[in-house]
Amino acid sequence: MVPSPLPLFRWTSRPGLVVRLGAVVVAFSFVASVGYDQVVGYRETIARAERDTRNATALMAEHAARSFEAVEETLRAVARLREDVEAGVLPPDRAVLHRQLQGIHGSSPLYVGVGWIDPEGNQIATSRSPDPPPLNIADQPHFRAQREATTDRLHISETFRSVLDRRLIINVSLRLTRADGSFAGVAGVAIDPYHLVQVYQKIDLGPGQVMSLFRDDGAYLARAPHSDQWVGQSVADRPLFRQYLPNAVEGTFHPTSSVDGVTRIVSFARVPDLPLVVAASTSLDDALASFWRHAALAGMRVAGMLIVLAVAAWLLITMIGRREALAEAARTAREAAEEANRAKSDFLARMSHELRTPLNAVIGFGQMMELNRPGNLNADQIEYCGHIVRSGRHLLSLVNEVLDLAGIEAGRMRLSPERVIVAEVVGQVVEAMRPFAEKHGLQLDFLADAPVPDARADLQRLRQVMLNLLSNAIKYNRPGGTVTVKAWAIDDKRVRIAVMDTGIGIAPENETHLFEPFYRLGAEYTAVEGTGIGLALCKKLVEAMDGRIGYETRLGEGTTFWIELAVENRLSRRETPAAGMPDRAAAGGYALLYVEDNPASLRLMEHLIGTLPNVAMLSAPTGQLGLELALAHRPDVIVLDLNLPGMSGIEVLGRLKALPETRDIPVIALSAAAMPSDVKRGLAAGFFRYVTKPFDVTMFLSVIDAALQVSRSRPAANGN
Ligand code: ADP
Repeated sequence: MVPSPLPLFRWTSRPGLVVRLGAVVVAFSFVASVGYDQVVGYRETIARAERDTRNATALMAEHAARSFEAVEETLRAVARLREDVEAGVLPPDRAVLHRQLQGIHGSSPLYVGVGWIDPEGNQIATSRSPDPPPLNIADQPHFRAQREATTDRLHISETFRSVLDRRLIINVSLRLTRADGSFAGVAGVAIDPYHLVQVYQKIDLGPGQVMSLFRDDGAYLARAPHSDQWVGQSVADRPLFRQYLPNAVEGTFHPTSSVDGVTRIVSFARVPDLPLVVAASTSLDDALASFWRHAALAGMRVAGMLIVLAVAAWLLITMIGRREALAEAARTAREAAEEANRAKSDFLARMSHELRTPLNAVIGFGQMMELNRPGNLNADQIEYCGHIVRSGRHLLSLVNEVLDLAGIEAGRMRLSPERVIVAEVVGQVVEAMRPFAEKHGLQLDFLADAPVPDARADLQRLRQVMLNLLSNAIKYNRPGGTVTVKAWAIDDKRVRIAVMDTGIGIAPENETHLFEPFYRLGAEYTAVEGTGIGLALCKKLVEAMDGRIGYETRLGEGTTFWIELAVENRLSRRETPAAGMPDRAAAGGYALLYVEDNPASLRLMEHLIGTLPNVAMLSAPTGQLGLELALAHRPDVIVLDLNLPGMSGIEVLGRLKALPETRDIPVIALSAAAMPSDVKRGLAAGFFRYVTKPFDVTMFLSVIDAALQVSRSRPAANGN
């Protein structure tokens, strides 16, 4: 048989499915755990970014509060300066006032200049210049606001460009009030929004950060990064001012810009006691940038892991597939071998069946002639008949043994282990072989001094083994020798039966082939008959009964073959011995019906029955005719061939058993189907005896005898 290539990949096999499922579960768990980490990481990153922007606004608010506190101090110093001038403590001299204002200005990098404006809006003095050009700010909103104010609160302007030098400034002013409460002008500090921008830039929220300072009406004051486009702008219409600030002094939200489409994290806070709002924001994408980098790495790790997993699963399934394929190949090979074996034994069974029928005639007629009933054969002819019968028997034993061996090898032998009374069985076999031993001039003894325990064995097969060993001990003995059979318990588990002879022994060089079939170890060149199968069969049978076989030998002195069987402890010993064979009945006025289609077999039976006085034989070549004859003549015994044309022997038996007129007639099956299972089946079907072809004449006559005895004791209602 050409082996089919082994499949490497079997995803659909059961283990393949299990591995796939396992891999999917592992992959899913891994992806789920990494995914969960990412979700947690995402939330943490955003929470961190929100915290950073909140911290930034807290810093900015703190910075604004301090800065504007300082500005207020500065403005109050200018107010005191005005009071000093008004009180005449200081002369209203520009140069003096300039120096005074310079002192008040100090070195703060936040300030652009400190100035004093009279009630008409004219600049009286400034820290920036001892001799400033004339300047009137009466029309500027912050001046107007202070002039109309009733309290001396700080006023913070929008960021605007100075009319003097176009520089960006934020004007912070304080109303100057005389003792009578009338408006005495304005003290002002121009602060530098760039300074605020520089401070804000020191806070690091990432590349997309924006920090802003607004007046609480939304007017732009400072922004980092700075852009001129914001100057003069108001964000009063933005969500921060419309939505969030009316409800909270601080907070965080995530607006998406309608201008650039960017989503930002924005934190805001009002500056306590000042009309100021600070806001810090960072782009969500910037905040998440490192998260996405890590997520991408995790994704790559997951992908790598999944690839490793897939490769591992593939390798595993391939290995399992290979193993399965090997097992499958072994199974197929085993099945093929079993099939071949079955075919072989079927062939042997058929062959033996075919051989048995002619052998039946050969041995039967040979035996009949040997009996020489008519007395017309001379001594030579009788001797020839003896040769024919012996050769026939030899051939028959060969056929039987080959069939047995083939049956065992094909595993077809069915054993029926049962409790066996060893001493009884061995005793019977010894007695059966006694004539054979005597013929060889040998003394045969059976020693069973102590009680022998029962064994667990197949009775028929044990007999077969013992017959074989005994026949060998007799065949390979020397004239005047002895054969001694012994049975005893080795221990409470095993019983041993030994067959000892004083024969030729076995040469050491032959021992290796002793139990091999068809090896006769030189006996084939002698006159001793044999097939070379007996010992091989004994070994197989004993081992099939869970026993052991062995031997000890001395060349020229003798051999002991022994077998060991398991002691049977399960049941109590049978009390009564088996009933012996009934004596042959005195035949008289009997009828025998033989249903057989084979003419040679029919002729043999006619001759055989012809030797029995007062037994008349009827015959029928078919089952149907047989039934009719049985009904018409009610014979005392029926011999039925099983392999009949048309209706089978088993069917004929069934019909006979169904009819009240015929159901008590003993029916003997005669068949060439000689497998133990055939015999068993036949007996189970209701045959009186099952005799296999070719049969031994003496044995067959005793079966007829037994059947006639049974028939004689039948109820009279059957007409006999
Ligand atoms: P066979 O049909 O030739 O007797 P067996 O298988 O029974 O075949 O025995 C195989 C061979 O072993 C015999 O041919 C014989 O040479 C040898 N043998 C068997 N039993 C004995 C014995 N008791 N003494 C000496 N040789 C024996």
